[in-house]
Amino acid sequence: MKHREGTKAVRVGSVTVGGGSPVSVQSMTNTKTEDASATIAQILRLEEAGCDIIRSTVPTLEAAEAFKEIKKNIHIPIVADVHFDYRLAVAALESGADAVRINPGNIGSVDRVRAVVAAAKERGAAIRVGVNSGSLEKNLVEKYGGVTAEGLVESALDKARLIEDMGYDNLVISIKSSDVMMSIKAHELIAEKTRYPLHVGITEAGTVFTGAIKSSVGLGVILNEGIGDTIRVSLTGDPVEEVRAGRQILKALGLKKDMPEVVSCPTCGRTQIDLISLAGKVEELVQGAGCDVKVAVMGCVVNGPGEAREADLAVCGGRGVGLLMKKGEILRKVPEEELLAEFKKEFDALVESRKA
Ligand code: SF4
Repeated sequence: MKHREGTKAVRVGSVTVGGGSPVSVQSMTNTKTEDASATIAQILRLEEAGCDIIRSTVPTLEAAEAFKEIKKNIHIPIVADVHFDYRLAVAALESGADAVRINPGNIGSVDRVRAVVAAAKERGAAIRVGVNSGSLEKNLVEKYGGVTAEGLVESALDKARLIEDMGYDNLVISIKSSDVMMSIKAHELIAEKTRYPLHVGITEAGTVFTGAIKSSVGLGVILNEGIGDTIRVSLTGDPVEEVRAGRQILKALGLKKDMPEVVSCPTCGRTQIDLISLAGKVEELVQGAGCDVKVAVMGCVVNGPGEAREADLAVCGGRGVGLLMKKGEILRKVPEEELLAEFKKEFDALVESRKA
């Protein structure tokens, strides 16, 4: 059985993580949380991009207070990210956070962790126990001769046990490393040892291009082994890109059905229209549609129609014109400048019919 099918189902607001639920996509805001309106605006953009759960940092009491206003204006669960000061975690929970992400190791004494656990328990909020390769405890670094997958796993399980011993098990575990191979190994190890759902991500993965590749490789392997209940792609960039990348990774692995797929040819000397720009626009246009439609954007009428046969809807470029095709059948020839608008009409109709 896949690990994710047997994990504990943990409620994070309206989203269930684990227990075989669909793998959810998370992101993190990069606005000042204290600035509720900027944070709300960003979360609404992320919702539109398909984000399932959002996390915001809570570095001050003012940020915890802002959670009240933020909660009122968004539609997805929000997780408070707290380091060092347990009072901030408690305050964020009091302000309506659906979950809190802490590393019990940097929250301080057991009593302080207990106060956070009590606040979460009172509200049925989930706790994400996060450990990170950058902050692995000294004794584990010494025990394993450096920062290792084994050390990360032991640290995470110790923290989960600490909270369990306080009588709470509404937990999600995350073990993060910026080293892809270490991440894979750590997830394989922890999956053998826990039934808590796992939040998977490659931390500090890099800029949009590099980070998306590192995350795709790491998450691709881990998810394909049946491990991982919720994911975040960490990118140095607009968090909307994190959501897009996360969804594409799930789509490529067959773990996400309710979104369109765009295939496009790499272009070559036969390409007769501005395909690179068209493919980008088509991708943008279709991404919000919440259903499984396959779209192809091909550069020529020689190989395009053959290659587009598998697609529900296809555009094939010709000299100043494009062929619109549906399930391999030609619908009509359209001048290049009208191609996008005509494609949109067909796409919208197709989506309507799928949803009907
Ligand atoms: Fe070249 Fe046509 Fe193939 Fe695109 S579909 S790569 S333009 S041959």
